[in-house]
Amino acid sequence: MGRVYLVGAGPGDPGLITVRGAELLGRAGAVVHDNLPDRSLLDLAPAPAELHDVGRGDGSGHTIGRERIADLLESLARRHDVVVRLTAGDPFVFGYAGEELLRLRRAGIAWEVVPGVTSAVAAPAAAGIPVTHRRVARSVTFFGDHPDLEQGAGGTDWAALAAVPGTLVSLMGVGRLAEIAAALIAGGRAASPPAAVVRRGATPRQEVVVGTLADIAERAREREIRPPAVLVVGEVVALRERIAWFERRPLFGRAVLITRPRAQAGGLGERLRELGADVVPAPVFRIVPPADEAPLRDAAARLGTFDWVFLTSANGVDALFEKLAQSGRDGRAFGAARLAAIGPGTAAALGRRGVRADLVPRRFVAEGILEAFAGIDLSRSRVLVWRAEGARDVLPVGLRAGGASVEEVDAYRLADEPLDPLVIERIDAGGIDAAIFTSASTVRGLRRALGDERFSRLAARALLAAIGPVTADALRECGAPVGVEAAEHTVGGVVDALVDRLAEDRE
Ligand code: SAH
Repeated sequence: MGRVYLVGAGPGDPGLITVRGAELLGRAGAVVHDNLPDRSLLDLAPAPAELHDVGRGDGSGHTIGRERIADLLESLARRHDVVVRLTAGDPFVFGYAGEELLRLRRAGIAWEVVPGVTSAVAAPAAAGIPVTHRRVARSVTFFGDHPDLEQGAGGTDWAALAAVPGTLVSLMGVGRLAEIAAALIAGGRAASPPAAVVRRGATPRQEVVVGTLADIAERAREREIRPPAVLVVGEVVALRERIAWFERRPLFGRAVLITRPRAQAGGLGERLRELGADVVPAPVFRIVPPADEAPLRDAAARLGTFDWVFLTSANGVDALFEKLAQSGRDGRAFGAARLAAIGPGTAAALGRRGVRADLVPRRFVAEGILEAFAGIDLSRSRVLVWRAEGARDVLPVGLRAGGASVEEVDAYRLADEPLDPLVIERIDAGGIDAAIFTSASTVRGLRRALGDERFSRLAARALLAAIGPVTADALRECGAPVGVEAAEHTVGGVVDALVDRLAEDRE
């Protein structure tokens, strides 16, 4: 019998889950989750894990009942060691999943609770509002305002709430802001101190409205603020002016589509998130082994017999070491062969395996490698080019022209991955500000996945960023304008180029 872990997912930024929560997700056989503002948290679960969405993510307003969720958890715990019940914020702060646990107890199923970062604290913090402050507010009171809650808790004592000193934070109350503010004022709370509403706090789509208790409802209505949002009442709100930091990050609020395969997207997505971007993962490929693996195995077995081994991507490096491991070997298999990596990403992938690249060119395209070899005599050298199926011929052709005897091996293949319908919806709604392409194949892959018409519409609206000249050419061939081309052909280079360009637009 497995165990059910009630895990707090935090306020929406996938970086704000606890280490313990992330570790459990990484071992989960099944995940039962609510409507998550950022689904990339689910990528932490192993690929074969069952994912069950029991929230209102489909927009239909439908939620499956607590009892059915408890039944689902029970049946999953009978099949998996680790079942994660993932809920927003902290599970026990205005959460209902505790009720599910009580039912599990009756079924004899063990559980644990992993607290989370509650939006009651994190949303104000991301808006630059500390919920307490030594000189301004020595206490904070959280209250929920929801019809369900009124039934259970016998209604809210507004006069008592209004009289509590310090900061007040209301959850689930945006739909009734005017009533809440009026009730607090009627209960004796001063109307003039500042108040704020923070919607989708601590996420790249955060919106903040500031006013006073008297006018905050009206201001929020003008800005069409809808749930999820918290209301913060108290002098601490004034600190925002000096503390606000979240919205000042260079890519804040920009929706950036990334096309890299999931296994590889990590570094790029993290960099963009760090800068405040709303990352929209749209992997157009999956990395799969080539149809025939015999040549791969054969070449891997003879690594030490080559003078040079050329590696053209981090994926290729991973595929190579996997092959070596399968036959019980490791980096020593290179023997005296020297290694050329196409760029720093590939060199770093080697580095992670404890192997140093002998050569990394100054320009990170196939032509760059050839330039780097301009002064090196390759005649009579035996060279292995370890590359993706269908890659350009520039490298082998150039090396042969230099006198080398070249063997090419297809280390992996890119298989089309269907696009998430939510991504298509966002494209159709014009909700993408920029798209990053890290190879020519991702350009063509996205166009195939979207179809010509949708791809053109995206290209007309969003800024398209290319990692280098080959990728930029692929965009032009698809009739898409190149918004920026990275000067340095690396993931960091293309992000820098995007930031610079968007900063120009802002000026
Ligand atoms: N257990 C959750 C709260 C669940 S009740 C927690 O600890 O955060 C749902 C309410 O949480 C919403 O109505 C809203 O008031 C608040 N909320 C959740 N995520 C939020 C976010 N990112 N920004 C602002 N409010 C949020």
